[in-house]
Amino acid sequence: MADRQVITGGLVLSDPAAGAHPADIVVEGDSIRGIAPPGSVADAKPVKAVNRLIIPGLINAHTHGHGGLAKGIGDRWSLELLLNAGPWINGGRRSEDRYLSTLLSAVEMVRKGCTACYDLSFMLPVPTMQDLHAVAQAYVDAGMRAVIAPMIADRSFYQAIPGLLDAFPPELRALADAMRSAAPEAILTPIRDAAARWSYSSDHIRLGIAPTIPLHCSDDFMQACRNLAVEFALPLQTHLAESPVQRAAAQRRYGTTLTAHLHRIGLLGPGFSGAHAVWIDDSEIDLLVRYGGTLAHNPGSNLRLGNGIADMRRAISAGVTIGVGTDGSSSADNQNMFEATRLAAFLSRVFDRAPAEWIGAAEALQLATEGSAAVLGMAGRIGRIAAGYKADLVFLDTNHVNLVPLNNAVQQVVNTEDGMAVREVMIGGRFVLRDGELPGLDWPGIVQRARDAATRLAATNAAARAVADRLAPVVDHFCVGLGLCAHDLPRRLPAAAPRD
Ligand SMILES: [Zn+2]
Repeated sequence: MADRQVITGGLVLSDPAAGAHPADIVVEGDSIRGIAPPGSVADAKPVKAVNRLIIPGLINAHTHGHGGLAKGIGDRWSLELLLNAGPWINGGRRSEDRYLSTLLSAVEMVRKGCTACYDLSFMLPVPTMQDLHAVAQAYVDAGMRAVIAPMIADRSFYQAIPGLLDAFPPELRALADAMRSAAPEAILTPIRDAAARWSYSSDHIRLGIAPTIPLHCSDDFMQACRNLAVEFALPLQTHLAESPVQRAAAQRRYGTTLTAHLHRIGLLGPGFSGAHAVWIDDSEIDLLVRYGGTLAHNPGSNLRLGNGIADMRRAISAGVTIGVGTDGSSSADNQNMFEATRLAAFLSRVFDRAPAEWIGAAEALQLATEGSAAVLGMAGRIGRIAAGYKADLVFLDTNHVNLVPLNNAVQQVVNTEDGMAVREVMIGGRFVLRDGELPGLDWPGIVQRARDAATRLAATNAAARAVADRLAPVVDHFCVGLGLCAHDLPRRLPAAAPRD
């Protein structure tokens, strides 16, 4: 049978709680048909996996493909300084730039053992069908599975934070105030058209919708996004209480928490996911449990942007489903799901709790596979090596130093592996990484195009960068002060008083 393969000779990690065992995996078409004792399947094309540990593909619950051209651009930036820099980091892009940026992110994810992602793709001021196709084509060319959610807003960053515009001196205020979003209909109509005509299969390249940050969206706009999500069964993701500034600004704008506000306007529900959720309290966790919604935990990005440490054990214990993400490369600055998974485990240990309550290796791996699958709306279809699941498999070289000796497969995958032992990646029954190469991609050509695009975009966005540099000191000062109002939650360590 041409489309029936048996992956034979390897160790298989089919259940993080049970560890890895010698087994064969029968693949039919794009799916796993079953797990069989070694050497017991005769009627299938053999695929040798000697010296391989086979794990389920890691799933990135929150990223931004548009960050691929922007890795390493910022350093000591808070989230708000990053948003202030957004117009020059992400501006002036052609469809070709969106394709290249997303392709760079996708290639990095695949090389580092990730087989599916939730991509909140920058589509300001307005999404276009051409740009959506460019982003989708990048995932098709890399062979990856993805949710592509156009990231949109009907307010600028400067309008989003109450009081920020008034903090600028008049000349700078005019510059900030001049940056406006497009009209809601102009933003939403192309998404409606795309949803109505989406031609990719929903378990390969799925359309989503991402009103970027609630404060950046009017209530009417958020509700219109929700209505589109309901009408076309699109997953909806937003950045939820990522920074202390957002928690404090929500109190000022809405008089309540972000999650309570989202509940009040009808956004919570089964297709809803919130990214980051560092600055949510117990009442918000309760709302997520009662009304539905998952969270994408981005521990590396939260550290890089100084947003603090999300207390995911508290949310998990209450019953919230959690996935793991890297965030985009302009705020992370890599697409390494092994690193994100390890950080999810290790950072659970900074809270003052007994080791039994820490996130362990098996649980971290489960979050980064099945947990993330739920965030993508693909639970039960990806994230596990089991009959009926898609054949999304990562093959690790057991002769690589990371796995020698192989004392404990699950603990070494989470606590040791960094992507260096990844040798092959199969997505939907097809090898998309083999012998260190992504077949079908002209990598030298992509390198040259990416460098050329970066050079051109730096010139195109030079004026926007100069404006952002002038606005940055006020943004920084205002937001540091506003963020202090949210320090009712223990998410950052208090600094010791200065020595006298
Ligand atoms: Zn993000």
